[in-house]
This record gives sequence, structure tokens and C-alpha cells, in this order.
Amino acid sequence: MPELPEIEHYRRQLGQWILDRPIDRIGLNNARSIDVTPEEFAAALEGRSLLFLERRGTFLIFHLDNGHRLLIALSKDGALYCGEGEEQPPFDAQAEIGFGDRTLYIAGRGSVLRLLTVRGLDDVFKSLGPDPFTRLVTPEYFVTQLKKRRGALRSTLTGQKLVGGIGPRYADEIAFAAGLLPSVKVQDLNGESAARLYEALESVLAAAIDAGGCIQVPLHADDTVTGGYLPQCRVYEREGQPCTDGGALVEKMDVSGKKAYYCPQCQYEQTPVFS
Ligand SMILES: [Zn+2]
Repeated sequence: MPELPEIEHYRRQLGQWILDRPIDRIGLNNARSIDVTPEEFAAALEGRSLLFLERRGTFLIFHLDNGHRLLIALSKDGALYCGEGEEQPPFDAQAEIGFGDRTLYIAGRGSVLRLLTVRGLDDVFKSLGPDPFTRLVTPEYFVTQLKKRRGALRSTLTGQKLVGGIGPRYADEIAFAAGLLPSVKVQDLNGESAARLYEALESVLAAAIDAGGCIQVPLHADDTVTGGYLPQCRVYEREGQPCTDGGALVEKMDVSGKKAYYCPQCQYEQTPVFS
């Protein structure tokens, strides 16, 4: 499932191939991925160029040269591939956008593409929390906002309100890095634990972006980076495997109806303070 690091990795890589090049082809293999007719969709994009690539949470936003936006929301099985010439993607594409000799292929049965005005885009995101990497989200801001929340750590991290872009994988990895159980109630966390949680959140997401995230589909033919964070995951979907920090086996627990992975030896009710 693409989360913030996967989409940010895509955003950083794609610019070199798709910015400032007129869109010359639109291909749609799944009409449900758009909310206008295929003809309207193609007419709105063909001839346009992209000025800027933005990410909000787990959404990729293309800034068109006429001021409008194209929003791409990848589904759980979503992925992107940027092919050169006749290169084909390693998946069945739902949609494709041609930029001269490059074609961007979009996978995922539930992935959607939406043409939006700037105001329409703001409406879509009005309930999304701030991006963890904006200047707004300082340690002080994070701790203050966390104090206003109630509920399990896992649900708070994936809720998209405190900060946007975190899903199940990185929520579990962040909880592990902070030494906190995914089930702890955020209203019970002390100042030390809240501060440690902020550090864990920022460092895990930054490391995952730099390592190429966890999607196991290459972004282009010579790609050796995408998916590079997968072997670095410490707990997510590692049930029964030994924790890399000790001898305990990673376990799975239910948190508000969702499964969360954790190490019973390394994660606590409060971040342990080592002297
Ligand atoms: Zn452990």
C-alpha cells in the first residue's frame, strides 16, 4: 500500500522525465479511474505541460500549465512505471499519460485520476492533517497537537488528522522506533514519549523516502532504488520472525479492529529512558 514515503519517492524521481514536456497521449483502460468521459479527460490534458509535482499525504498532484491540477490517488495495489519508447510496465496499467518519448503508467484497480481546480483540490484536502515535513510540524507543534488527541497510537498515526500520509506499515515502524506499543493511548503518553514519537516519525519517514519506499515494482527499466526500504522494516508483516534488536519474535495485536505488528521486548507503554 503506497504511503507517504512511496509517493514522495515517486515525486522526486518523476520530475526529470515528465516536467515541461507536452502531454501528447492519454490511454485509459479503466473508465472508472476517472469521473469525466475519456474524451473530456484527454481534451483537458493533451497539449498541456506539467510545471510542478506536489505531494499531499499519499496523493500526487500534477500542476498543469493552465493553473489546473491532476490528482493521482493510488489504490492499495497501486504503483507507477515510467517507460521510455516502447518499454512496457510490469503490470496491467489502468491509465497512461504520454510525454513524448516517456510514458507514465498507472497501476491499481482502485487508483483514481481527478482533474481539479485549485479550489476543488483544497476542498478534497480540507480534513487532511499537515504534512510531517512542513515547517508547521515542529516538535512543539506535534506534542501540543498530540495532547489534544485521544485513542490508540496506531489509530492516531493512521487517522490522517494529526499528520497526513501515514498508513499501517509506517505507523508500526514508527511505534517500534519510538519504543511504544501500538495500543498505547496517546492521551497517556508522557512528554518524553511524545517527543520520542515525533523523532521516530520524522526519522522513519525520511529514511524510507531516501531508501525508495517499499513498493516492489520498479519505477523504470534501470531502477535499483524503488522498494529499497522493504528489507529495513523492523516489524510490519514480520510476525513470528526475530526482532532485529533482540531475541523476541515479532507479534501481531488487534488495535481498534486493525492488526498491528510489534516486538513485545522492545515496545512499552512509555518510551524507556536509558541512563
Ligand atoms: Zn525487539
